[in-house]
Amino acid sequence: MKEKLLLPNFNSINCIEDKQNLELIVQLLSKTKVETKKSFQSDTHNLSYREGKLIEEEERNQYIREHGQNFGRELAQNYERKLKEKDLMERSKILKSNLSKFPILIKNNGKKVLVLDLDQTLVYACDSPKDNLESITTKEGIKVYIRPYSKWFLEVISHSFDIIIFTSAEQKYSDEVLDFFDKTRLLISKRLYRQHCVKSGNFLIKNLDCFFSIPKSKILALDDNICYYFNNLDNVIPIGAFEGNADDFQLVKAAIYLLMINEFDDVITENSKILRIKEKIDNNIKLLTTF
Ligand SMILES: [Mg+2]
Repeated sequence: MKEKLLLPNFNSINCIEDKQNLELIVQLLSKTKVETKKSFQSDTHNLSYREGKLIEEEERNQYIREHGQNFGRELAQNYERKLKEKDLMERSKILKSNLSKFPILIKNNGKKVLVLDLDQTLVYACDSPKDNLESITTKEGIKVYIRPYSKWFLEVISHSFDIIIFTSAEQKYSDEVLDFFDKTRLLISKRLYRQHCVKSGNFLIKNLDCFFSIPKSKILALDDNICYYFNNLDNVIPIGAFEGNADDFQLVKAAIYLLMINEFDDVITENSKILRIKEKIDNNIKLLTTF
């Protein structure tokens, strides 16, 4: 019988709020699938190491499969940062409007694509001091706090997804912050800024319809403000806004969800089935317009 090394029973870890559990899960997810069974077979040495690696990989995949959906749903509940009535009504206007679709060329080698927001998703720019958080200061003196696990998130997710940063912030500021994460531009495939958003009334839209070179079924978007994706709600995964809480670990939950959903060919269908964002928003709109 294979000895399970010193690994804990990960599937019993439902609650990652506990710091120790969280660190175990972070370690587990960091084990990528780069080392395939084939490469193990060609190495005839160190049998117990190889068996250990395979067990770790099995554990990782099993954990992701069993817990991914729940963590995704937990994140989705956060979008109930109470979308305002006027925001909801804007969705109907956006759908009726003829949004500009200028082509944004994205090189893609077949991986799924994660469109990722910057402010309040990966970082928080704020004047008042925040404790126990890594921070950078831009040349213009803006203090930017780094969300816990954000560097880890980018590394783990970049093995499975092409990461595109899509921010409504100015390019100069965004580049300074993004260089902190990815100076060599190896983790993030493309950076899109305010000038790439489409205007609709008072709203800026991050229009996934502009990504002509990638099927929509392969794109997911993680953002603390889902209004940016009002015309593509099936693609969106909401995340609670980061406002300087040093105990925030929503990016770990997001990573588990993303790795789970990456196993499906058509991520848009699965995402909309699990999170039901569009359905819930449209029900709310119906209620508003009925009375
Ligand atoms: Mg944001």
